[in-house]
Amino acid sequence: MRLTTPVRTVAAAVATVVLLGAGSAAAAAPPPSSVGAAETPTTVCPTGGQGHGHETSGDASARSAGARTAGPRTVRGPDHREVSVVEQRVIEARTDQLLAQRSAGAPAVREVPTYVHVMAGEDGEGDVGRAVVRRQVRVLDRTYRGSGFRFDLAGIDRTYDDRYHRDRRSGEYRAETRRGGPGALNIWLVDFEYLGVATFPWDQADSPALDGVRVDVESVPGGDLERFDQGKTATHEVGHWLGLYHTFQGGCTRRNDLVRDTPAQSSQSAGCPAGRDSCALPGRDPVHNYMDYSDDACYERFSTGQVDRMRSLFTAYRT
Ligand SMILES: [Zn+2]
Repeated sequence: MRLTTPVRTVAAAVATVVLLGAGSAAAAAPPPSSVGAAETPTTVCPTGGQGHGHETSGDASARSAGARTAGPRTVRGPDHREVSVVEQRVIEARTDQLLAQRSAGAPAVREVPTYVHVMAGEDGEGDVGRAVVRRQVRVLDRTYRGSGFRFDLAGIDRTYDDRYHRDRRSGEYRAETRRGGPGALNIWLVDFEYLGVATFPWDQADSPALDGVRVDVESVPGGDLERFDQGKTATHEVGHWLGLYHTFQGGCTRRNDLVRDTPAQSSQSAGCPAGRDSCALPGRDPVHNYMDYSDDACYERFSTGQVDRMRSLFTAYRT
């Protein structure tokens, strides 16, 4: 997952105070816990930071609260549940087994029906319009061009509930609103401490009601998140949903993200550090890759190996 930055979190808290100040007073102050959390300096986790406690088993990617820092916004933060090398091997073996069973040729283009769930606040906060939702899905479709995946908006629904808007009880709201089968993408737009959170394809069969991605509503095209406002958080999260790890998964190892043509990377990038070369292994860091943590403006591509992996995993787990 992608994690929101402290600046954003603090700004949100301030905005809440201002809004409240315009109306009535003290009751409007944000809960102390949220303010405290926003201001608590913590170190940035390396790869695989934990996101949402009990929910992490179903969440491939959740930029975690544990990765928030108090300094200037520098990273997206870990958004990915821990997957050990041992677990990776089990998953890969299972994938190979499933692919062997699915001998029929995969279609050249996979149409992915996309359902967007706007989880707005009771006062209408985060209730983005249909045009914005359509732009978000178009960004998704455009950034996956050439990959063999097409994303078509299949439906929009809206829920007005402060708890759901803040991503509380996500297991509950996802189960209530999720639509389509394993090959349907569900995107929930919420306001939380992450940029986004995703589930992996190999977890779909065990947790079908949770399958999909949750994205900060301000990361949509034209949103309020500085540097993360082009809708490419969704592109990154859908990469996890299709089975990709971060490009910095595993650090400076040959195995790293299990994709041959993404050079090893010691840790996530912040901003757009072109030319960064954090490992002695061949190749510079893939800072323009959608599965790093660079700014939206820096995001440009998936590698051929990533496309191959997404197609294989889709065939194995989502068809
Ligand atoms: Zn991620």
